[in-house]
Amino acid sequence: MDKKLPFTKNQAEKIMQDNPTPFYIYDENGIRESARKLTEAFSWSEGFRNFFAVKATPNPHILKIMKEEGFGTDCSSMPELVLSEKIGIVGENIMFTSNDTPREEFRKAVELGAIINLDDITHIRMLKEAAGIPGIICFRYNPGPLKAGNIIIGNPVEAKYGLTREQIFEAYKLMKLEGVRRFGIHTMVVSNMLDEEYLIDTARMLFKLAVEIHEEIGIKFEFINLGGGIGIPHKPGDKPVDMSKLSEGIKDAYEKIIVPAGLHPVKIFMECGRFITGPNGYLVAKIRHVARKYKNFVGLDATMANLMRPALYGAYHHITVLGKKGEAKTLVCDVTGSLCENNDKFAIDRELPQVKEGDTLVIHDVGAHGHAMGFQYNGKLRSAELLMKPDGSIRRIRRPETIDDYFATLDFSGI
Ligand SMILES: *Cc1c(COP(=O)(O)O)cnc(C)c1O
Repeated sequence: MDKKLPFTKNQAEKIMQDNPTPFYIYDENGIRESARKLTEAFSWSEGFRNFFAVKATPNPHILKIMKEEGFGTDCSSMPELVLSEKIGIVGENIMFTSNDTPREEFRKAVELGAIINLDDITHIRMLKEAAGIPGIICFRYNPGPLKAGNIIIGNPVEAKYGLTREQIFEAYKLMKLEGVRRFGIHTMVVSNMLDEEYLIDTARMLFKLAVEIHEEIGIKFEFINLGGGIGIPHKPGDKPVDMSKLSEGIKDAYEKIIVPAGLHPVKIFMECGRFITGPNGYLVAKIRHVARKYKNFVGLDATMANLMRPALYGAYHHITVLGKKGEAKTLVCDVTGSLCENNDKFAIDRELPQVKEGDTLVIHDVGAHGHAMGFQYNGKLRSAELLMKPDGSIRRIRRPETIDDYFATLDFSGI
């Protein structure tokens, strides 16, 4: 079984005539479908909203699609705030979920009217000094030993994010004393999670905490933000998250915990990035060399500088060789890039059909945290990003970097 592509080999060849590999290509139809799947799953929840995590795919054309789908943005840096502003997502359509935050970013977020989601109790003072306490405030909760995490985000006890249970009660008390009247609460303890039960359990945990805080401190929550982290199937055969099961489970928890405590109506927010764009982005590269050493190596014109997830997390990304559908996968190889760095691999011991120089490979599920994590180590330049429109036309939404871009920050004077 193989994974589906939104374009045929012929279409890909045409695209490659105008756009040298490597490049990223995003499928607008697929992105909109994922966005609607999420929105529809939570249509029972009045005011449900996804704040797309800008860091997943920070491109204005992608964010414009998010805006059209009714999403806000989740920002965590100055450039992300500015990007959001530039496409007209401002005010409480921005969730500012930063950590180790510089003051000027607090200032900018407050200036834009964003919802500020504080990561630490000491940030209250910093926010107050930088910009004053806004009328609505949210805190990020870290359950510590009460919840297990996964490889990307780590064990909550080891995680740098969020307030402890004790701190979070204290924080809302302080905010109430400051005269804040509008509140939200947030958590994100896991990333790329495919288990609906785990995600439902996180909602249950946060609902219970909201009720406890409400009862102890006497504040009412306007929203409960469950963060991002809904996973996508990377391997053929992985089961996608059953969105109706997830939605039903969260609805059940809402009705059992929120409603009896008198907290209804409270809006449910999410910050999903990967679920929306992840499966709808592809890295297209060509084979530069096939080398047979102690192992077989298939060397591409892309490197881990274009996609670092396999090297960083050992992530599996499926690879399709264009035009070899149905051929037996008799070549066991490592798929590598050209960095002078031995973990520059897209796949290890992967079974592929027999390949040769010039064949085109498509690396799947890179639409989120893919291009965005790119870097320039070893003088490797970031690739172009293309958008495949619903009518099949192609729009280049980011040009490839040039050597001049690479040199732009250097000072050659007096050399
Ligand atoms: C990265 C991040 C997200 C998005 O995570 P996905 O796995 O893309 O859904 C959401 N919220 C916060 C705070 C994040 O750091």
